[in-house]
Amino acid sequence: MTQFLPATSTAISQAADLLRDGQAVAFPTETVYGLGADALRPEAVLRIFAAKGRPADNPLIVHVAEVADVEPLVARIDARARLLMERFWPGPLTLVLPKAARVPNQVTAGLDTVAVRLPAHPVALALIREASRPIAAPSANRSGRPSPTTARHVYEDMNGRIPMILDGGACAVGVESTVLDLTEEMAVVLRPGGVTLEALRELLGEVRVDAAALAPLKKEIAPRSPGMKYKHYAPDATVVIVSGTEEGRAVLASRLYDEAKVAGERAVILAPAEQRCAYGPRVFRALGRSGKPGEAAAQLFAALRELDAQGFQRIIAEAVEAEGIGLAVMNRLCRAANFAIEHAD
Ligand code: AMP
Ligand code: MG
Repeated sequence: MTQFLPATSTAISQAADLLRDGQAVAFPTETVYGLGADALRPEAVLRIFAAKGRPADNPLIVHVAEVADVEPLVARIDARARLLMERFWPGPLTLVLPKAARVPNQVTAGLDTVAVRLPAHPVALALIREASRPIAAPSANRSGRPSPTTARHVYEDMNGRIPMILDGGACAVGVESTVLDLTEEMAVVLRPGGVTLEALRELLGEVRVDAAALAPLKKEIAPRSPGMKYKHYAPDATVVIVSGTEEGRAVLASRLYDEAKVAGERAVILAPAEQRCAYGPRVFRALGRSGKPGEAAAQLFAALRELDAQGFQRIIAEAVEAEGIGLAVMNRLCRAANFAIEHAD
């Protein structure tokens, strides 16, 4: 049985006790819900992999409540990492740094680096402080499913698999943290997320984006972020992305929708609210407003889960401008669609 509790201070204390006891519990962060366990105990960390059905070669992010708590986890913190922590923590930025020996291999999937983050959510911070240890936590979904942005989503995936879910409401950002590799001279975004590429470049100058962010991985190249290898964020429905001008997208998406209907599929259009009229009587689900990628980010995973629950077999999604947090939205959409993109011209 999984306890489902509003995140009161009593419930947070109970959850912290479970963490100290080596159990895995789900809690809210500003990005998505996390499934946490004591990062320094291999048997606790393995419970996360078991509950999620996560492949053992996909490393976890270690969460701390104070900048000083990073020091024991890493081999060194250079000036650039300090600058990033000062500017973006607490917040949705994960830093990949050379690891200290005490971080178990189960957390890092055998890599010699460790990913660390200081989240900006009062419940996450209170929980980590009270547990008084670093907490390894990936997203609290079953592996391969869309990430959970409400406690209810966690319950759908994890009921009976973990002892407790803390309910702290819907996550404000809605997509996972930006993962930034700092192990080489050039900082590399391994996964776009809540902190934008533009903001990172403003602080650091040049920042590269890993090729796996918006294109399928080439088979012969080992990904720098092992998570990029897996089908991700995917609903049961087949997702197709349509890109091009506003009118072009509507014409092409309408055609794909009509073809799906002829083939007997239950189809739905996922696009900015303003586009609804362009689709006439076709089934339409709004994903935020035009030019507001933050709204699309906050709603994307919930929308994918909802459309699955409603039994849609084909989701025809309009592309989002890959700027600001829109880059993270497109990354998640591309992976949900297995990179099926049709261009209108
Ligand atoms: P999740 O917390 O479920 O969003 O998954 C954590 C993400 O961080 C995955 O995409 C991992 O591949 C990535 N990650 C964690 N640790 C590392 C690391 N040491 N190096 C590169 N990527 C990492
Ligand atoms: Mg995840």
